[in-house]
Amino acid sequence: MLDLVDVSRSYDDGHLIEALRPTTLAINDGEYIAITGPSGSGKSTLLNLLGMIDRPTSGLYRISGIDTTSLTDTARGAIRGQIFGFVFQAFHLLPGRSAVENVELGMLYGPHSRRGRRSRAYEALERVGLADRRDSDPRTMSGGERQRVAIARAVAGRPRVLFCDEPTGNLDSANTRKVLGLLQELNASGLTVVVVTHDADVAAAAPRRLMLSDGTVTEG
Ligand code: ADP
Ligand code: MG
Repeated sequence: MLDLVDVSRSYDDGHLIEALRPTTLAINDGEYIAITGPSGSGKSTLLNLLGMIDRPTSGLYRISGIDTTSLTDTARGAIRGQIFGFVFQAFHLLPGRSAVENVELGMLYGPHSRRGRRSRAYEALERVGLADRRDSDPRTMSGGERQRVAIARAVAGRPRVLFCDEPTGNLDSANTRKVLGLLQELNASGLTVVVVTHDADVAAAAPRRLMLSDGTVTEG
């Protein structure tokens, strides 16, 4: 479904940094993939390209056979909002808003009515085991609970692919296990999951692993 063909990304800050060297990679519907590698090896660069947060310097990126590299930012944004969900290390929840409001905000630009957003938000919070915390401010929640709210926000609009960048980076081992269990459940129910991590246990939970080293991807 997601096809990178000779995709590279470089940055030019006075000198050239090849953050991702030309990479050909196919991700199929329903896969659960971990991307590992040391800090600075290009993991976030690859994830941001796959999630259409960023554009390649060269190469083609096809989603379900459609070349995305020639699309406008608006078209790319529409596809991104419809079929992708994102989870980041730092949660990015709004303080002063309840858990359910945070989850609804993730669907603000989607096709659903206010009522549709509310019922999907409740459903998503139930899915992550936080139905009873729906009216709580994230500031009163533990790191593990906050990340589960962030996961609920990412999946409430029913995306096809969930991209996670170091989702357990701020969590202790008990909460890491909870988040991993949740990712596994979501994948089992059909969601494609792509997780960037430098935690060996998180990587080991994924059936397919990609290793990055200095912008080069190896399968293994
Ligand atoms: P990782 O997520 O594995 O730590 P990144 O993908 O963030 O690595 O970065 C890969 C390389 O690209 C690093 O050398 C980093 O410094 C560089 N890089 C990332 N983003 C930028 C940017 N916006 N401008 C310049 N260099 C960048
Ligand atoms: Mg990174």
